[in-house]
Amino acid sequence: MRAGFPDFRLGNVLATSFTGTLSERHGDAVERIPTPHRLVDWLAVSGLAVDSCTTAQLDLARELRESIHAAATAAAIQDALPASAVQVINDRSAQGRAAAILTPEGKRQWRLSSASCVEDALSVIAADAISIISGERDGKLALCASPTCQAAFFDTSQSRTRKWCDMNTCGNRQKKARFHANQRKNPRSAE
Ligand SMILES: [Zn+2]
Repeated sequence: MRAGFPDFRLGNVLATSFTGTLSERHGDAVERIPTPHRLVDWLAVSGLAVDSCTTAQLDLARELRESIHAAATAAAIQDALPASAVQVINDRSAQGRAAAILTPEGKRQWRLSSASCVEDALSVIAADAISIISGERDGKLALCASPTCQAAFFDTSQSRTRKWCDMNTCGNRQKKARFHANQRKNPRSAE
């Protein structure tokens, strides 16, 4: 991790982990890939290592990210998918070449056509987004209950009742807020 940059919030789902590189979209937004280098870092920890990234490639990545966010949000609230977002997702999906590789340990890895090809990495992310938005994967798209976040996340819990995009950040903050509110209401009963 490079010092001075906001940490990544990594989840189990590639596409929503990627949309999570911009958080608090409805509050004080935190950009977690502010520079091309930070996108390189994020891709590395996400199993899509590339050597380098240009500013133009970072722009492509952010455009894809916001398109996935828009389409996933629409899918979560059962709204029509925004055509422009669908177009960007499809363009990124079609314009990269990446191969799924099975390791001897039985794990899936991605092999990009070249180490400098951010577009290949973006195509893997776009395809992941398509698999969750199309409903082909087991789980349900939902929006984070935190009013300043409202991130789209993929709920794979048994009951499909997950409320927050991330338990450690949004979930915790909400729990703390509730605790303090209760404390104000019943100062004596708290602890
Ligand atoms: Zn959230």
